[in-house]
Amino acid sequence: MRPPELNPLFASAQSLEGVGPRVMMFLKKALKLPGQVSEPRVIDLLTHMPTGLIDRSAMPTLADAVPGTIATIKVLVRKHRIPAAGSKAPHSVMTEDATAKLEIVFFHADRRYVERMLPPDTEVYVSGRIEKYGEKLQMMHPDHIVGLEALNTLPLLEPVYAQTAGLSGKVLHKLIGKALDLLPPVPEWLDEDVRTRLSALPFAESFHRLHYPQTPADISTASPPWQRLAFDELLAGQLALALVRQSQKNQPGRSIVGDGRVRARVLAALPFALTGSQAAAIKIVETDLAATHRMMRLLQGDVGSGKTAVALMAAAIAIEAGAQAAIMAPTEVLARQHAETIGPLAEKAGIRIGLLTGREKGKARKTVLAALAEGSIDLLIGTHALFQEEVLYKDLGFAVIDEQHRFGVQQRLALQAKGGPYGANVLFMTATPIPRTLLLTHYGDLEVSKLTEKPAGRKPVTTRAVSNDRIEEVMEGLGRALNQGAQMYWVCPLVESTGKSELAAAEERAAHLRQFFGDRVGVIHGQMPGPEKDAVMARFSAGELGILVATTVIEVGVNVPNASIMVIEHAERFGLAQLHQLRGRVGRGERQSSCILLYQGPLGETAKARIEMMRETEDGFRIAEEDLRLRGGGEVLGTRQSGVPEFRIAEVPNFPDLLETARADAALILQRDPELSTDRGQALRQLLYLFDCDEAVRLFRSG
Ligand code: ADP
Ligand code: MG
Repeated sequence: MRPPELNPLFASAQSLEGVGPRVMMFLKKALKLPGQVSEPRVIDLLTHMPTGLIDRSAMPTLADAVPGTIATIKVLVRKHRIPAAGSKAPHSVMTEDATAKLEIVFFHADRRYVERMLPPDTEVYVSGRIEKYGEKLQMMHPDHIVGLEALNTLPLLEPVYAQTAGLSGKVLHKLIGKALDLLPPVPEWLDEDVRTRLSALPFAESFHRLHYPQTPADISTASPPWQRLAFDELLAGQLALALVRQSQKNQPGRSIVGDGRVRARVLAALPFALTGSQAAAIKIVETDLAATHRMMRLLQGDVGSGKTAVALMAAAIAIEAGAQAAIMAPTEVLARQHAETIGPLAEKAGIRIGLLTGREKGKARKTVLAALAEGSIDLLIGTHALFQEEVLYKDLGFAVIDEQHRFGVQQRLALQAKGGPYGANVLFMTATPIPRTLLLTHYGDLEVSKLTEKPAGRKPVTTRAVSNDRIEEVMEGLGRALNQGAQMYWVCPLVESTGKSELAAAEERAAHLRQFFGDRVGVIHGQMPGPEKDAVMARFSAGELGILVATTVIEVGVNVPNASIMVIEHAERFGLAQLHQLRGRVGRGERQSSCILLYQGPLGETAKARIEMMRETEDGFRIAEEDLRLRGGGEVLGTRQSGVPEFRIAEVPNFPDLLETARADAALILQRDPELSTDRGQALRQLLYLFDCDEAVRLFRSG
């Protein structure tokens, strides 16, 4: 159990004074939350790192103030010039010091507020940008106004945070301050060597230093406080991984050996022969399953490389050995599609499948749960629903986690834990190749297999970038293709900045396309009720719809082989990995496929590089490397989109050296104190809780 003194940090941010539903909504957008957390908590404010700094420590006299810069100035308030009611003129306040005059200007300000903040004949500090207006010095809307006695409350070095419209930096900073007050004293868990090397301040003080910097250097990622916290985060991650690994080693896995019966029937039912890569991957899984330690393998295979067939064959091994298997996918659409493709094959092979998602409710759900518990389902396919508490398997031996980067560590562990005393053997699958640094960080020494070959007969996809001005031309081309029986996707991005919903964007585009192509146009988006989504997907799969206008719900995994054209609108707004995933939806069938990247110029450097890369190659591994390089770990949006798990403080790849040290340190710690029972061990347990590694601490009990 988490030490009770840490509880206030893990309470909802709403427990802070001044945070209501509205602010919560903004926080939800502004803060990075760990995968399994849906509501911002107090601690998520602490780990929200500054991205820059306003330096208002210059305190010149007015005569010395440099126009255009930010300064903090002591002035004497003289008089207010208040505009007549209804006038558009500003409320201005005349002030001065011994050297010059300064006019402070407010537009649309609350008169009483201004009068209260700047009472005539008193001296105050005002801080903001000094401007020269003709011969006069002006300051518009000072950022801060404080009385002489309150200078110490004025943040002379003010951190700046990435934020969303609606939540001011001032409010955010105030909330972070409140969160800091709730940080209890924690014991030191770093050993002296590391502390010296990092010039580390204590944990709590490091947070203080970042949110209340004393010098501009404090908020650089190279500063001692940042380095310390980054190291703490990495150490927690490495320790958790090492613990998971240790528990894997210590706990024998269940050896599963099949007789090939069910596999032979699946092979016979498959409409194609396996590629060499697929056959090799299945062979390795067979060996893993037979071993007496628990299997944990990552299968990387580019989009369209045929991972589903591997998953099914692997499940068949467990099933022919008398155990149950599960395939978990991150979205409803994908889970249903798996059920649909696998369904007919399973039937021929005598595998009894079940489907469980958030949408199966009431009686249908009960039926599935009962069948699962009594063992009359061999293979359960579904979403996050698969590891919920009330879901009990008779004997889960093997689980596949598809598009695994969409799941948090805790979620992966939760599904694994459904597998009885030994835990289920797990095969992770991903189309997003994970560079080695990230792999180490997030999985430790997980074993990795790759599907390097694509199924035969795949034709390369032609990729073109077309400016939005030429959209009419594109439409004409699409019309011709439609008349020849082609099917296509038209993807619209989220338009968060304008507040327009994804629904509106997709509906608008669909309406436009319908003017040309009538009822051959369908729409699918995330806000649509599940059954409607299914119906649209089904019509598209059956060829009744020619154009499917979609938001990124189709990004992962969707498979309609006849679809051969992918139009991506506002391609400049997508990350590389996401563009690659989307393009992977076509080029799956007989037709020559193409991908049209519609962009709105002028393009920034990064967007240009992304689009160039897309035209250059279809190699997912190259694209992933380039993606990481372009993002440089800093562009939060890109990180989110590509689905690469992320850190809050130690954003990889900014801290490769620290990562190595943390890895070595974690290994050493567990070698000396495998139960974390010494004083330092106890302190390290707190570290694990602070960085959301509860599941790892729990392993001690099961070990
Ligand atoms: P992904 O790896 O992206 O999950 P899928 O498993 O969805 O790929 O497979 C993509 C498409 O390739 C599907 O239509 C599937 O039927 C087909 N496919 C898979 N393996 C082969 C194969 N060995 N030969 C021909 N087609 C294959
Ligand atoms: Mg897939």
